[in-house]
Amino acid sequence: MSDPQPGFTTRSVHEGRGFSGPTGAVMPPLYLTSTFEHGNPEGFDYTRSGNPNFRLLERSVASLEGATFATCFASGVSAITAVVSTLQAGDTVLAEENVYGCTYRLFDRVFAKFGVRVVYADLTDPGNWDLIHRHRPALVWLESPTNPLLKVLDLQGIARVAREEKVPVVVDNTFASPYLQRPLQLGATLSLSSTTKYINGHSDCLGGIVATNEPDWQDRMLFAQKALGLQPSPFDTWLTVRGQRTLALRMERHCANALFLAQWLEGREEVRQVSYPFLPSHPQHALARRQMRGGSGILTLELDGSADQALQFARSLKYFTLAESLGGVESLVCHPPSMTHAAVPAEVRRQVGIADGLIRLSVGIEDPEDLRTDLERALTKVRG
Ligand SMILES: *Cc1c(COP(=O)(O)O)cnc(C)c1O
Repeated sequence: MSDPQPGFTTRSVHEGRGFSGPTGAVMPPLYLTSTFEHGNPEGFDYTRSGNPNFRLLERSVASLEGATFATCFASGVSAITAVVSTLQAGDTVLAEENVYGCTYRLFDRVFAKFGVRVVYADLTDPGNWDLIHRHRPALVWLESPTNPLLKVLDLQGIARVAREEKVPVVVDNTFASPYLQRPLQLGATLSLSSTTKYINGHSDCLGGIVATNEPDWQDRMLFAQKALGLQPSPFDTWLTVRGQRTLALRMERHCANALFLAQWLEGREEVRQVSYPFLPSHPQHALARRQMRGGSGILTLELDGSADQALQFARSLKYFTLAESLGGVESLVCHPPSMTHAAVPAEVRRQVGIADGLIRLSVGIEDPEDLRTDLERALTKVRG
């Protein structure tokens, strides 16, 4: 009789122990070495193609994603590069139109030069899933919830259609984290995360990871890690292993704080619209409740005002630092049109619904009342 699978939090605390060797160290050592003696039992050769600290992170995240394999990279963008580098000239990617700004830029400014074509569509609309049959793309690129509009895509529904055409599906799972959402269990081929965000959770290093159950895809990811030089540093992966040990606790608090603030902001007259997957007003609310364990820590609001007023609001907050990125214990505020999505042409921004007054909050784990008071003061200030 086998033991039942331990729970998510137990796995995140205990996975990958056993690198301590004869010393009994409870926490893993940091393997600061570029190379390894030939013929060692674990098969390491050179840190560009693997290091014990990478392996520890890869085991932990694979376990949390419910995956057989994971490969870590220097950043989320490195992970995206690794996946897209498997394509050939002439291939088509079908992508959700509201992808992360740097994903769009990579496709548009880099991979387009190598003959990879991307068809963008609003994949919250099941009417557009037929594009999978029509284009038979080499890859379907999904993100859910999306950045910054927090659209929620039906991952299971889209993966089902893709399977009919044998098209692999990649899901950028950064905004949800494996605590809230497991794309592979919903039928995706690859679950990709920027570990810079929730998985590490402390805004002190960058990283990316790709989890899969398919050995062929795992081989391709390991090849990309070493052949393209996309590997992280041992220290960054060490920090990320430490960060992910508290993922479940942090996510619970991020979700509770964000829901509390979203509900409060919805009642404010200065705010035209609030978007948060677990608010009943969210267009895919029922789907979000089915697909995710919580609404995560990101919410967006559209201020009734100009881009300048939106920036003024963001700058006058005390506990929300005006900065790119998200998913750390500290709250951050971002004005996507002038920051994360500045690389997206203005007309494309307008088409996909990124208004000038749009504000994205990454709600941290602070005391919720302090965050609410902070928002209230800044709202009063822009109104006055
Ligand atoms: C931040 C982010 C990335 C890129 O990750 P980096 O670690 O910054 O390179 C990719 N996708 C999403 C959804 C992100 O938020």
